Amino acid sequence: MTQMKGTLSSHLWESSDLYRNSVLQLQEAAETMKLDPNIAERLKVPKRALIVSVPIRLDDGSIRCFEGYRVQHNMTLGPGKGGVRFHPEVNLSEVAGLAMLMTFKCSLVGLPLGGAKGGIRVDPTQLSRHEAQALTRRYTSEINMIIGPDKDIPAPDIGTDAQHMAWMMDTYSQEKGFAISGVVTGKPIEIGGSLGRAESTGRGVVYTIQHAARHLKEVGKSGPKMDSTTTVSVHGFGKVGAVAAREIYDLNTKVVAISDVQGGIYSKNGLNIPDVENYFAKNRTIKGYPEADAITNEELLRIKVDILIPAAIDGVITSQNVSQIDAKIIAEGANGPITSRAMMELEERGTFIIPDILCNAGGVIVSYFEWVQGLQNFFWSESEVNGKLAEVMASAFQKVIDTQTRFKCGMKTAALIAGVDRLNRAMLLRGLFP
Ligand code: GLU
Repeated sequence: MTQMKGTLSSHLWESSDLYRNSVLQLQEAAETMKLDPNIAERLKVPKRALIVSVPIRLDDGSIRCFEGYRVQHNMTLGPGKGGVRFHPEVNLSEVAGLAMLMTFKCSLVGLPLGGAKGGIRVDPTQLSRHEAQALTRRYTSEINMIIGPDKDIPAPDIGTDAQHMAWMMDTYSQEKGFAISGVVTGKPIEIGGSLGRAESTGRGVVYTIQHAARHLKEVGKSGPKMDSTTTVSVHGFGKVGAVAAREIYDLNTKVVAISDVQGGIYSKNGLNIPDVENYFAKNRTIKGYPEADAITNEELLRIKVDILIPAAIDGVITSQNVSQIDAKIIAEGANGPITSRAMMELEERGTFIIPDILCNAGGVIVSYFEWVQGLQNFFWSESEVNGKLAEVMASAFQKVIDTQTRFKCGMKTAALIAGVDRLNRAMLLRGLFP
């Protein structure tokens, strides 16, 4: 792998593994596609970043300042787009890396949107509802000058959900004096959300798995049959993993293992996912679910399965554990769950990877639909949303396969090339200001 022109411009960006891995993967794609080095130079750093202090009064009366970020990586194709993460490990570099992934994701799936991401360094499980609301509102107010329906449109990510988006929408609207629902997506239906948005990421993950299984069959490779003989492990039982597990269960395919932050559960004959959902609803964890064996998160990753879905967080499959991973297909439900080193080893071994910017793009695709519906004040039925989602995912999947065939590279590189290619053309057309 040759170096792209220059070195990383600043220590500011490069401190997180996620950022460094994203740049390494970009370098690989840039080299394979022979990307104009001037474009590569611009893509490896974000356009703009805002760091804010978010002071709130805690329930005990004391005041605490949290650190918040909003990073806009590239806005050539349209307004910035990307989630807001509440997590204790969030930092500027990680948010910048995630914003970069959003740029390539939106470009790959053909949206008129750029890439952005936000976050607050906080453990959301330690906040009361009142504190979470205060934090979300103050954060929105602090980043108010760079977000907006035409500028940058946040959405949920790890640790945030539709309720947070409702508070963001309300805060932004209060400051402007009227309701502006287009400032965020992933909102509750009552205030301009889209049907199908909550399930869209997990649903999209399953669509790409079905495409992958069909593709492997077409090219004569042994792939999963997607029936009751097929085994699946899902790492993460959050907004993505839980929906993916349910959709897979509904396809009559066997989910043998699943986990959340507290630990995992395993059943050789397949878990009854609706029953696990009920247990989770009562206990706020799947740990202790009686009809299965307890396993750790690390053990879950090492189970031999047809399909592994890392849908929790980045950096879970690394050079340390990659030799023990035994799956035919790995569907990156989370952003960046496989480090670039581990990715190389898996691709050499012939594991079929469904890259994150393709695999989990369902969320931002339906976010785009939500934004469009809001702008037109005309809302679609859930089957219309799902039908359009399936179409966009199918053509993005095919685009990545075609790119892979053309460049004879891995799926990860192919997805990036397909994303970068559209952006590259747009950036060259727009030129450099001034
Ligand atoms: N946070 C999600 C992602 O990483 C969704 C972003 C959005 O809908 O804007 O793709």
